[in-house]
Amino acid sequence: MEIIVARNSGFCFGVKRAVNLAFDAVKSHKKDIYSLGPIIHNPQVVEALAKEGVGQVNSIDKVKEGSLILRSHGISSPEILDDARSRGLNIIDATCPFVKKAQQYARRLVEEGYQVILVGDEQHPEVKSIIGHAGGDCIVGEDYDSIRARIKSKKIGILTQTTQDYSIFSDIIVKCLKDAEEVKIFNTICDATGLRQEEAVELARKVDLMLVIGGRNSANTTRLATICRETGRDVRLIETEEEIDDAWFKNIGRVGITAGASTPIWLIEGVVDRLKKIKNQEV
Ligand code: SF4
Repeated sequence: MEIIVARNSGFCFGVKRAVNLAFDAVKSHKKDIYSLGPIIHNPQVVEALAKEGVGQVNSIDKVKEGSLILRSHGISSPEILDDARSRGLNIIDATCPFVKKAQQYARRLVEEGYQVILVGDEQHPEVKSIIGHAGGDCIVGEDYDSIRARIKSKKIGILTQTTQDYSIFSDIIVKCLKDAEEVKIFNTICDATGLRQEEAVELARKVDLMLVIGGRNSANTTRLATICRETGRDVRLIETEEEIDDAWFKNIGRVGITAGASTPIWLIEGVVDRLKKIKNQEV
């Protein structure tokens, strides 16, 4: 059995930065460190940080003193930052710079009078953070029909969740062009997402079985699994090697592995080691 790992898989720049900032805070002996929501969407990393003393809160009301980490997806409104500062908390801003850019673009579109369309999942924290920073209404959705019903202007500004699939984003743009007189687009899909998606699809086409490693609560991981399935391949989404069943690999010649942008290298290595053991049993 051949095992092929996608070159671009696992931690992206923004996630690496956020996790490093959290571990740096621990190393510099800062006490009372809290993250506002999970720092990244990977339960195993959140657990590892918790063991080092990084707690998680859902509201800053729970933090009386110490350091507050703003997670990679960003906070849901700028007022939260003002509030945290007024409480005298030490702020560690781990918001990914690409998410910040999307927040700024959304604000700019609102200020310039565009009706803003944000292509994304409105329940996702990153999308909530972009809406919260826009300073005005945004139409949020991932299918054109539901978006179209809410468009009230001929002047439309479009941007997207950073982990969005290119084909969904471009499909909505093309369809919106029919209704609008003026359209301003910001491509806020980050390169890390695009690269992982392209490579994952390419790899899925070459293998018999594809393993996608990452948190089930991670949008970019579940998206990778979805687009790999669209190639018609058998795809398994797993968080750790413990979920692997040896029976999956019966009559499998090639296995492809990819991992979401919030999946650490040690989880990928754990899966590869497990597959090597299965491979050795075959001999
Ligand atoms: S996927 Fe892109 S936008 Fe999201 S955290 Fe990583 S680098 Fe930032």
